[in-house]
Amino acid sequence: GADDAGGIDLEAYADVWVFVEVHDGDVMAVSWELLEEGKKLTAKTGEDLVALVIGEDLDAVVREALERGADRVLVADDPVFEPYRADPYGAQFRAMVEERKPSIVLIGGTHTGRDFAGRVAVPTHAGLTADVTEIDVDDDGLLQARRPAFGGDILATILCEEHRPQMATVRPGVFEPGEPDLDGDFATVDEAITAVDVVVDESETISEVLERNVGDTTDITEADRIVAVGAGIEGDLEPAIDLAEALGAELVASRAAVDEGWVDGSRQVGQTGKTVRPELYVALGISGAIQHVEGMNKSGTVIAINTDPNAPIFEHADYGIVGDFADVCPRLAKSLRER
Ligand code: FAD
Repeated sequence: GADDAGGIDLEAYADVWVFVEVHDGDVMAVSWELLEEGKKLTAKTGEDLVALVIGEDLDAVVREALERGADRVLVADDPVFEPYRADPYGAQFRAMVEERKPSIVLIGGTHTGRDFAGRVAVPTHAGLTADVTEIDVDDDGLLQARRPAFGGDILATILCEEHRPQMATVRPGVFEPGEPDLDGDFATVDEAITAVDVVVDESETISEVLERNVGDTTDITEADRIVAVGAGIEGDLEPAIDLAEALGAELVASRAAVDEGWVDGSRQVGQTGKTVRPELYVALGISGAIQHVEGMNKSGTVIAINTDPNAPIFEHADYGIVGDFADVCPRLAKSLRER
């Protein structure tokens, strides 16, 4: 049986953990997406859904995790965790995993999550699947982690049969975050909150934050409104920026536009970029290739502007305008500003 593989007693591991990522009191949206998805897993396995919160001054976050359906919250609250550094996070997380033995650990595939997940997975011999876009669990609690493979041509299901925990970093934006239950009686849940021992201190921490150079830190996965540009704009960003400003929208791009260097790679939408689900997505000069559409087809209202009436993007649009973006954008921006 699996029990003797590597000497790991699979039965000793239980529960689904979700890492709640906090920076300066702000929770990354992917954490709540994962908590919502975690509920579906524990509904099947009958285990507890545990939110794991690391940072400083976490009371409000802990409360929100309970409101959002965590059965229990583990809290490591200490100044050593703010601002984020990989070594204290990795050491703390690892100690918690080794002591408490979760069966499944879900971490948002953010810069932070991807940075420290390996520091937990390698020493604990966990199976770590990166960049997961679908998750499920079978009756035996075996995690089915699905992710694009071979350049996105297939979706691979990755199982971790002989090791625990089963860890995954999950792509932000692919799951719905759900709503907190504000009517629950959370005053009596002190027993649901465990302040864990903080196992790291500054003296053991080898990295130090000397300076923070904040470049483009916009997280397009959190934008409510988006203006997307494609190869069709031919480097003429101004009408798109003008429209984005009038809408209060973030600018993103297809891979073709990123490859041309018109827009930063952190703003690419699609299979090899990010998945976004804004209320409004305006596509300018984008043909609507499947690899692009995959990253935006969960958007609310989609408006496409394209000179080619047969462009596939129109099949995914609620409103289509056949025309030159350089013509249409200023008119839209103007009428928005006049409202
Ligand atoms: P094009 O397909 O060249 O379309 C340009 C459009 O602009 C045309 O429809 C044209 O009619 C229109 N146009 C031209 N002039 C104007 C004008 N003046 N006004 C209005 N419209 C105009 N792509 C992504 O976007 N994201 C990804 O993550 C991604 N990952 C990929 C992964 C793999 C494995 C592969 C194989 C491809 C991937 N691609 C991705 C590339 C994808 O297949 C397309 O090549 C790309 O999306 C095309 O970008 P586009 O729509 O901007 O350009």
